[in-house]
Amino acid sequence: MLQDNFNRVHDYLRISLTDVCNFRCQYCIPNEDAQFMPSSNLMQLEEIVSIASQFVSLGIKKIRLTGGEPLARKDAAEIIQALSKLPVKLTLTTNGSRVHEYLEIFKAAKMRSINVSLDTLVATKFHQITRRNQFTQVLNNINLLINEGFHVKVNMVVMRSFNENEILNFIDWTKDLPIHVRFIEFMPFEGNQWDNEKVFTFQEILTLASSKYQYTKLREEPNETAKSFQVNGYQGTFAVISTMTAPFCHNCNRLRLTADGKMKNCLFSKGEIDLLNAHRAGEKILPLIQQSLSNKAKALGGQFEGDYQQIDPHTISNRSMIKIGG
Ligand code: SAM
Ligand code: SF4
Repeated sequence: MLQDNFNRVHDYLRISLTDVCNFRCQYCIPNEDAQFMPSSNLMQLEEIVSIASQFVSLGIKKIRLTGGEPLARKDAAEIIQALSKLPVKLTLTTNGSRVHEYLEIFKAAKMRSINVSLDTLVATKFHQITRRNQFTQVLNNINLLINEGFHVKVNMVVMRSFNENEILNFIDWTKDLPIHVRFIEFMPFEGNQWDNEKVFTFQEILTLASSKYQYTKLREEPNETAKSFQVNGYQGTFAVISTMTAPFCHNCNRLRLTADGKMKNCLFSKGEIDLLNAHRAGEKILPLIQQSLSNKAKALGGQFEGDYQQIDPHTISNRSMIKIGG
């Protein structure tokens, strides 16, 4: 069992398939000319399956594939197919641009829930954030997933003075569609120009929602990071992931594997343990996994706690989000 020193049992692994992405979201990737990892540094298909299987033997029950853009990896379909044979709930977070090419793969892998990131409902703003022109493609693919019966969560990173004025439009979107919008508080990572004033908080989101709607708080699943709500009579739901103002570390059940096979016990952990090179050298990785777990800090990687307004982003030591795998 993957239990840490704070009695938290871990049964959820997020695997980054690549640090490559076809978008350039400003809050995620430090610059347009970012250098990607050489492919020899990335876990190969058999390595992903072997390492993932060892996590499963320790109690992992859910695997989420992420990146970079997981569907930008050439052998993404084969990886999905292979991991779908493990006794886990398999799911994926994507920027949505290539979903139409993968529908049958998702269905064959029995993936029922997909998270798609979309931070704006305005095409020009979409280009400003992602530096790409694929707004319509992403929107069409969200609709395609819904029409095909997938449970679709839409991740929207809220940044003050940029897109908080769209929060009500996103909630309106849940009226006639069974779509689940998740507002994410903007988080600090290497090179992403984070500033505490850009964080539009959980409380502010709820205050804004209350100005227009009557909504009900929904029951939280165990280990849920999002606090969920439903406007009375609407088909979909909205939720807030309040990492900065109301973190949910006390019942964290997540572990992470970067595309180059480093285990991170927290999104904000400073330390990493190299599972891939140990695996390549024929060493046992189970003790390394346990070692990483026993180093897990009580909250937020031990890097910041308390008032988010006091955080100096320059003191945080971490990779950029695109290299961690969100
Ligand atoms: N490319 C895929 C995508 O965009 O969904 C998967 C990887 S992306 C890093 C995973 C999630 O992290 C996305 O929903 C993205 O919006 C979120 N994310 C990235 N940087 C973030 C930040 N600084 N604060 C909050 N969320 C962030
Ligand atoms: Fe790519 Fe996703 Fe990061 Fe945007 S958030 S740059 S789509 S990995």
